[in-house]
Amino acid sequence: MSVTARGSLAEALSLRGIRLTRQRRLLLEVLDNAPGHLNARELLQAARRTDPTIDRATVYRTLHLLKTGGLVDELDLLHLEGEEHYYERRRTGDHVHLGCPQCGTISEFETDLVLELSQEVARREGFTATGIRIEVRGICKACSEAQVG
Ligand SMILES: [Zn+2]
Ligand SMILES: [Zn+2]
Repeated sequence: MSVTARGSLAEALSLRGIRLTRQRRLLLEVLDNAPGHLNARELLQAARRTDPTIDRATVYRTLHLLKTGGLVDELDLLHLEGEEHYYERRRTGDHVHLGCPQCGTISEFETDLVLELSQEVARREGFTATGIRIEVRGICKACSEAQVG
């Protein structure tokens, strides 16, 4: 299932009764439209292009709200960037993060196996997974080709 098959983050939030201020709505849009994973600083910078008055505190409060509401995942992405944390829209466990420490690239690998794993957990442990995260560290294709060549 793809992200676009679901409603926007803003719709999901309003369904949960979370009040959407103009600035919160803007941050949601930025997260929804981000091509990759943003940290809080990048989220603030992107939002400021639309609304220069938005501040750090609003960004952190909103991220907290979204995490608590289960709409956004906080990721450390294998600590390739040190202690930096990143945020992305939560999906129902359909991708794995691949991290290459040599070039610092994080890519996404989409597979139904993630969903199957959470179903297996439920089947065998009676544990209903509401989130799952799988990260693979290793050498990306570009880096291994550069080594060979
Ligand atoms: Zn690499
Ligand atoms: Zn991701």
